[in-house]
Amino acid sequence: MGTAQKTNLLELDRKAMEAFFQSIGQKAFHGRNVLKWIHKHGVTDFDAMTDLSKNLRQLLETVAEVRVPEVVFDKPSLDGTHKYVLEVDSHNRIEAVHIPDDNRNTLCVSSQVGCALECSFCSTARQGFNRNLSVAEIIGQLWTPVHRLGKPVSNVVMMGMGEPLANLENVVGALNIMQDTLCYSLSKHKLTISTSGIVPALRRLRELSDVCLAVSLHAPNNELRNELVPINRKYPLEELIPACKAFIEGDKRRKVTWEYVMLDGVNDSDAHARQLIRLLEGVPSKLNLIPFNPFPGSSYRTSPPERVERFRQITMKSGIISITRKTRGDDIDAACGQLVGRVKDKSRRLPPAQQAMESQGSAI
Ligand code: SAH
Repeated sequence: MGTAQKTNLLELDRKAMEAFFQSIGQKAFHGRNVLKWIHKHGVTDFDAMTDLSKNLRQLLETVAEVRVPEVVFDKPSLDGTHKYVLEVDSHNRIEAVHIPDDNRNTLCVSSQVGCALECSFCSTARQGFNRNLSVAEIIGQLWTPVHRLGKPVSNVVMMGMGEPLANLENVVGALNIMQDTLCYSLSKHKLTISTSGIVPALRRLRELSDVCLAVSLHAPNNELRNELVPINRKYPLEELIPACKAFIEGDKRRKVTWEYVMLDGVNDSDAHARQLIRLLEGVPSKLNLIPFNPFPGSSYRTSPPERVERFRQITMKSGIISITRKTRGDDIDAACGQLVGRVKDKSRRLPPAQQAMESQGSAI
């Protein structure tokens, strides 16, 4: 009958690669060489891996492959951000957004197709949850711009589609590859995971990986947060805040980045700002105010810029470093919460033009 499926080596971090090579009767160091070929040099063809013997290359040809997600769409925004849509299977597309700035090149990557968390202001939530991305699909979002599209990447933020802590194992595998000196050598200071706050998985992440933490807070009290970020009903603020504090403990330079989407008349008053200050007391914090990016069918409005600025000033006065995130890439649907990755979704009732655009997906 048919041949066994080939192992996709893009799926494997250093440990897994070494184990794979041992499992096919080879020395672990060959695995390290292959890892370097793939991620440092962007080589996917075994024949081009010239420090492997011909026999080993032939063996690899029969048992393994390096399968990279295909780029189906590659679109620059007017402001310099660049969106890549990758096809991961015949039903699903995912997206990465490249955001060049004065002194860094940030890549925003997705961890799932869709999302199960139902945050009320996020368009990804609308499409529901489709599936977790594999390690290959997550790291493929970095491999592609670096090795195929010639874009340098200095920072990675896991702020695209999906909840990274709901796909912890694969996210950690991909983070290992990002940090590995044989691969992309991205330091822990250059990698950020953004989560809505799945507390047990946050604790587990701390054991498995060392990265920067961003938390989608969006409200200074449980009542409001239950409404905006429903996972709060399961892991309320009195559990979340100490878990975040514990995450950065031991490193004095570290801060938790709190993401706070500014929703007009919902969470943006002076009283909310003062409540937020009290909530974050004693936690080394950076506050990231995100102007709400509207999408069809959403009932929220963006807070006026003066309101955002006043909120920022109040929180700044308490000693919290507060910045307003620039909205970028919105002309190509690449801004925060604009990511939609399912190819066909009949449940969404959008005008056809909008649907065509949104099926290309995106978010930061
Ligand atoms: N699930 C993760 C990461 C994905 S979203 C998380 O919750 O952190 C990345 C950030 O964009 C989150 O802070 C999210 O709350 C925010 N976001 C989602 N929809 C948005 C919208 N419509 N406008 C502005 N920010 C949005």
